Amino acid sequence: MDNNIKCPYVSKCGGCSFIGEDYDKQLKDKRKTLAELFKGISVDQVIGMKDPFHYRNKVTCSFGLDAKKRPAFGIYEQYSHKLVPVEHCLIEDERADAIMHTLRDLFKSFKYKYYDEVSGYGLIRHVMIRAAHTTGQIMVILVLSSVVLPAKNNFIKALTKAHPEITTVILNVNERDTTFVLGPRNITLFGPGHIEDVLCGKRFIISPGSFYQVNSVQTEVLYRKAIKLAGLKGTETVIDAYCGIGTISLACAGSAKNVIGIELNQDAVADAIKNKKLNRISNVTFICGDAGEVMERMASEGNTADVVFMDPPRSGSSESFMDSVAVLHPAKVVYISCGPESLARDLEYFKTIGYRTKNISPVDMFPHTEHVECCCLLTRKEK
Ligand code: SAH
Repeated sequence: MDNNIKCPYVSKCGGCSFIGEDYDKQLKDKRKTLAELFKGISVDQVIGMKDPFHYRNKVTCSFGLDAKKRPAFGIYEQYSHKLVPVEHCLIEDERADAIMHTLRDLFKSFKYKYYDEVSGYGLIRHVMIRAAHTTGQIMVILVLSSVVLPAKNNFIKALTKAHPEITTVILNVNERDTTFVLGPRNITLFGPGHIEDVLCGKRFIISPGSFYQVNSVQTEVLYRKAIKLAGLKGTETVIDAYCGIGTISLACAGSAKNVIGIELNQDAVADAIKNKKLNRISNVTFICGDAGEVMERMASEGNTADVVFMDPPRSGSSESFMDSVAVLHPAKVVYISCGPESLARDLEYFKTIGYRTKNISPVDMFPHTEHVECCCLLTRKEK
């Protein structure tokens, strides 16, 4: 596929290291890098996208002051706190791009001040937009340094008039001196306070702070692959560790006897429980807690599992988690990973406790960037 598209921000943004390169070549290069990393394990072709642009369903823009104290917006330049004014991004959702433009105009006409990181004055810190791929619902999160948005009603009226596709607006309060975008408190200004999307035939409520894969098209490809690897027959007890809002748990529930989803983030667990009800699924239980600790407790209480799905953050899993997997003694572990290095490390540890994989299936969830998602099936070596 020839995509001779040039991004003017590439050198400063640092997000898309491969933008402008032929997409088929990107996929081949990703596979080559994985094959070098996973020595002795076969690596499938990387499954790419038909249209590898504008796939990101979550878009963030930061607001601040430049060195001369003039209002500035954009994304932070790589390794610095200088804002690069990205007007159009080639991988972000185009509806979000358009809303971001309107917001900047509205901030100006409502005379809202951008936040000054040095003095701590100013209201607007960031805007995050989350767009549901299937339903088209859109959430706008205004991250402010205060709970008070002056002329709130008029502002919301103007925004939703310009963009009737927006289904909810949230004021997120971030008063801290922090590099985290979202603060702890959300106030719903418009709509239900969440969006809903459909993934693998199931409906999901997504709250502002809950994790949701950023590339919905490829997430379906990945989950279907992962569930296929598990080869469920309907009789299994399944654990979905690091389950987020319950996407994998609910997508595989119809093919298992029962599923236990484990997740640390309270908001995500609350969403997962709502999602279970929304989809009228009864054989799934969600537990809020550290996946390793919950699994250890389950193991110490004499529980077993037939299949464990694990989808940890980029940093990977922990030895204590993997030890408790071994005690629960599943015949199969399906490991989904967005961090190939941590996956390679964890696969080595799994080997020492009797689980191995023969094959890695990569899915390109992040075209034009150096990232790639992998899934693999680990089976127990019988003694
Ligand atoms: N499987 C889900 C979420 C994957 S992202 C999906 O595909 O949507 C990883 C998730 O792990 C996040 O939701 C994060 O909140 C959660 N997490 C991070 N550390 C954890 C831990 N120690 N125990 C349980 N969950 C954890």
